[in-house]
Amino acid sequence: NKQIILKEYVSGFPKESDMVVKTGTIRLQLPEGSKNAILVKNLYLSCDPSMRGRMRKVEDSYVESFTPGSPIIGYGVARVLDSGHPNFKKGDLVWGMTGWEEYSVIKAPESVFKIQNTNVPLSYYIGILGMPGMTAYAGFYELCSPKQGEYVFVSAASGAVGQLVGQFAKLLGCYVVGSAGTKEKVDLLKNKFGFDEAFNYKEEVLEAALKRYFPNGIDIYFENVGGKMLDAVLLNMRLRGRIAVCGMISQYNLEQPEGVHNLFCLITKRVRMEGFIVFDYYHMYPKFLDMILPHIKEGKITYVEDIAEGLESAPAALIGLFAGHNVGKQVVVVARE
Ligand code: NDP
Repeated sequence: NKQIILKEYVSGFPKESDMVVKTGTIRLQLPEGSKNAILVKNLYLSCDPSMRGRMRKVEDSYVESFTPGSPIIGYGVARVLDSGHPNFKKGDLVWGMTGWEEYSVIKAPESVFKIQNTNVPLSYYIGILGMPGMTAYAGFYELCSPKQGEYVFVSAASGAVGQLVGQFAKLLGCYVVGSAGTKEKVDLLKNKFGFDEAFNYKEEVLEAALKRYFPNGIDIYFENVGGKMLDAVLLNMRLRGRIAVCGMISQYNLEQPEGVHNLFCLITKRVRMEGFIVFDYYHMYPKFLDMILPHIKEGKITYVEDIAEGLESAPAALIGLFAGHNVGKQVVVVARE
C-alpha cells in the first residue's frame, strides 16, 4: 500500500520534500468483526488549499492537524472493497475524507457520501459535484443574496470553486469579473466560463483595475485570496454590498497574516461581510445535485480539471496550488477503476 506521509509540521511555503512516499502492506479485507468500517481503493484524490492549515499544529481549527509520520488526509473518490457497515457494500463508489494512499480503512463511513450518478467523470465528485461545488453553491446562493443584474467579482476565479461561482452568477444574469494569475487563466475565464471580464492580478494596480471594471462599484465579492485584494475590493464596494469570505489563500503560508486596512468601508458602504465553512451546508447536498446535474448535462455549466497522474505526483500537485500551477480543479489520479 503506497502512501504519502507528512514528515513534520510545516512553516512557510510547503515543499515536496515535506512529504515522502512510503510503501507498506495492507490486507485487502477487513479484519473479522470490523463493525462499521469500510475498506476502500482510492481512485481520485483532491488537492485543496485548506490542507495547508492541517500541515501545522493547531488546536483551535475547524479541522484537525495532520499527524506527522502518517498519511495526508483529504477528499477522495474511492471504491468499496469490503464493508462492515450496513449502508455500504462491496463495489459501491463513495466520496469523502480518505487517506493519501492506495487503500484506506474508513472507520466512520457516515461521513462519506455514496455516489449514485455515474454518468459523469468520477473525479467530478472531488470537484464540481463534491466539496468545492458545494462551497461555490452555499457561498454564492446562501451568503451573497445575489440578484439578477448585480455586479459580481470573484478572485482565484479559475480555480475549483471560483470557476463555478462565476458561472452561477452568469446563469442568474449578473455582470461578472474574475481575477487570476496567468494569461491562460484569464482567457479561460472569458472564453470558457463566460465571465464578462477578467484580469491578471499580478499585472495590475488592483484598486485601479477594479475601478476600471466596476465603475459603479461591486455588489458581491466572492473572496478567495485575502490580503491586498481584499483591501482593494473594500475601496470599491457598492452601498449594501456583500462579501462572502470563502478563503484567503494569499495568507496561508505566512507566519504572520497581513493586516487589512480598509475595513472602515464596511461601515460607510453598509457592507455585509461573512465567513463560512462548507461543512455547515452539507445537508443541502441533495438539493445542490438536483440543481447542478441537469446544468452539466445540458452544457450550461462546464468544469475544468487539472489532472496529475499517479499517487507520487500528489505532493507536487498540492504545493502547486500555492504557486498557481493548477489550471482548474487539481485532481490526482491514483487508479481509474
Ligand atoms: P484553486 O483551485 O483556486 O487553487 C488555488 C489558486 O489560488 C491557485 O491556482 C492560484 O491561482 C491562487 N493563488 C495561490 N496563491 C495565491 C496568492 N498568494 N494570491 C492570490 N491567489 C493565489 O483552489 P480552490 O478553488 O479549491 O479554493 C479557493 C479558495 O476557497 C481557497 O482560499 C480555499 O481555502 C477556499 N475554500 C474555502 C472553503 C470553505 O468552506 N470556506 C472550502 C473550499 C475552499 P492564480 O493563478 O489565479 O493565482
